[in-house]
Amino acid sequence: MFNKILIANRSEIACRVIRTAKRLGIRTVAVYSDADASALHVALADEAYHIGPSPARESYLRPELILDVAKRSGAQAVHPGYGFLSENAEFAEACAAATIVFIGPPTNAIRAMGSKSAAKQIMEDAVVPLVPGYHGDNQAPDFLRDTAGRIGYPVLIKASAGGGGKGMRVVWEGATFEESLASAKREALSGFGDDRVLLEKYLTKPRHVEIQVFADTHGNALHLFERDCSIQRRHQKVLEEAPAPGMTPELRAKMGAAAVAAARAIGYVGAGTVEFLLDQDGSFYFMEMNTRLQVEHPVTEMITGQDLVEWQLRVASGEPLPCRQDELTISGHAIEARIYAEDPARDFFPSIGTLSHLRTPSESTHVRIDTGVRQGDEVSINYDPMIAKLIVWDTDRAGALRRLQQALAEYQVVGVTTNTSFLGAVAAHPAFAEANLDTGFIERNREGLFPEVQPASDKILALACLDVLLRRDAEAKKYAAFTTDLYSPWHLTHGWRPNSDNHHVLYFIDGDATTTVTALYRKSCFLLELPGGQVVARGEIDETGNLLADLDGMRMTATVVRHGAELNIMSASVTHCLTLFDPSAQTAEREGEGGCLTAPMPGKIIAVMTEAGAQVKRGMPLLIMEAMKMEHTITAPADGMVATVNYTVGAVVNDGAELLSLIPEETA
Ligand code: ADP
Repeated sequence: MFNKILIANRSEIACRVIRTAKRLGIRTVAVYSDADASALHVALADEAYHIGPSPARESYLRPELILDVAKRSGAQAVHPGYGFLSENAEFAEACAAATIVFIGPPTNAIRAMGSKSAAKQIMEDAVVPLVPGYHGDNQAPDFLRDTAGRIGYPVLIKASAGGGGKGMRVVWEGATFEESLASAKREALSGFGDDRVLLEKYLTKPRHVEIQVFADTHGNALHLFERDCSIQRRHQKVLEEAPAPGMTPELRAKMGAAAVAAARAIGYVGAGTVEFLLDQDGSFYFMEMNTRLQVEHPVTEMITGQDLVEWQLRVASGEPLPCRQDELTISGHAIEARIYAEDPARDFFPSIGTLSHLRTPSESTHVRIDTGVRQGDEVSINYDPMIAKLIVWDTDRAGALRRLQQALAEYQVVGVTTNTSFLGAVAAHPAFAEANLDTGFIERNREGLFPEVQPASDKILALACLDVLLRRDAEAKKYAAFTTDLYSPWHLTHGWRPNSDNHHVLYFIDGDATTTVTALYRKSCFLLELPGGQVVARGEIDETGNLLADLDGMRMTATVVRHGAELNIMSASVTHCLTLFDPSAQTAEREGEGGCLTAPMPGKIIAVMTEAGAQVKRGMPLLIMEAMKMEHTITAPADGMVATVNYTVGAVVNDGAELLSLIPEETA
């Protein structure tokens, strides 16, 4: 076994690898960019080395910088994690040349699976079933369009070098093929430096079921069962579980054998995942093989009791696999939820900012949290906006699902928008409870999963008022303690008003509306006049900052986090944001309807489809930006005329930059 390893990654996966290494008594070396100088993975490692500026291509993606640190630190092996250099064959080769072990498969296996097209060819030869399609070299648009017609729509265009759902477009009819091809190729070129694509028949209701495989250098290969990753958005996994609901021992054995055959066909060593599409009739098709540890590996660990990072380290140091196929069993059920800084209501647009408040459920045998961030950390545009992976386990799926809902309700994040409520809605959906899973789940159940934003309930308003009033009282008492004038009315803390009942009027901006609540001071409580009627409220703020409230005799605990004038009220599984409006301050400027179209985040303009003077219809694409490695289309918010186009292709724009301006029809 190694004495010291370098982890060529960041955030949760770096922390995850460090945890196992520490348990095995292996020293760890971290690397970090400018943005990560005070990151958690740096703090957890025994040693850490700065490798460059924040953009990954100038730091984490530079093999020579990583190898230099490996040599300087005396690390015997490099664990690449996932993403970054984990599937980079040149990097693996460079490690070997420097006599440093790459903790991953042999380079020819990485190469063989690196291109989805080449991988399909190998699998075809090894008689692993494939989805009908085209994975040849001819990339001429006309040829591809004709081939798509022959395959029959709907067709899926995939970047051969793709991953993470990028460079992938579903095409429903011939008329939109060319446009989709161009867009897929653009995203593939910028994401992977390779614009080759393949075509597949698009299955309309498949499940994504993948098999975890492992092989060693002694000729042993086995699988650690399956994971169901059907709950996806934009072809990216959102929730993963193991075992796959409804899986029969026969099908498991068949898929497991196919996956092991796939691994053997390329002389595989280490951890790998063979991904299949499982159709409703039980047929399954090879999609691709990922030659690394997967983000969702914890669900497999939870049901098998194995530590896959330990397996990787043992295999890489030349040991045989820790057990035989017949020694592995499945115990209980595990589900993983990926908690992201993103806004589900805005098509899962990444959200950036400082994690000003972060509280997580406690970890136990039932709840595991793999994270790489702490309160105060920044979610920046430089990296993937994942905050954490929340993994739950129980003896059966229903139990795991209950735990998931509970843990999601307890996950508190302020400072960025997150998908926790959305994940909670998926977990609470009857179709999910019935395990009615396929990759179209989110699209099909849109209505139940993206509820309209409701105005704050009386309970939320009452909690917000109580928090404001209790904090005001505490503040006033603090000042009163310094006074020498015992009778000064300025130090009274019970809302005294001349010639009137003691009261305060609070104004809350809630979305587009303003709600007024009058709080009357009563002996040791407040009488709140809420939209739905009066409520007697009392409470206190405990030493952890929690609000212990009593509303008409009903006790509850809430957390109210202030962010300037913004109040984030978190109670049970509800999070609501209100802005406390102070009418004595200057009138807040409200932005006019429509008008300008601003960049939702920093990025680069990659296409402009309109010009000044053009008449446009609501929803028409006007401009395409690339941000966080994804394409984002800016569409017309209303019918009207484009007044100005402020940037050209190639321009780099800041968050909030006015990209174009539009004169809506009624004023045009
Ligand atoms: P990536 O490497 O970008 O993640 P994959 O090839 O693994 O791409 O596919 C990602 C997801 O896209 C799959 O999990 C599945 O939901 C969907 N998908 C891929 N191929 C097909 C297909 N032929 N038909 C229907 N859905 C597909």
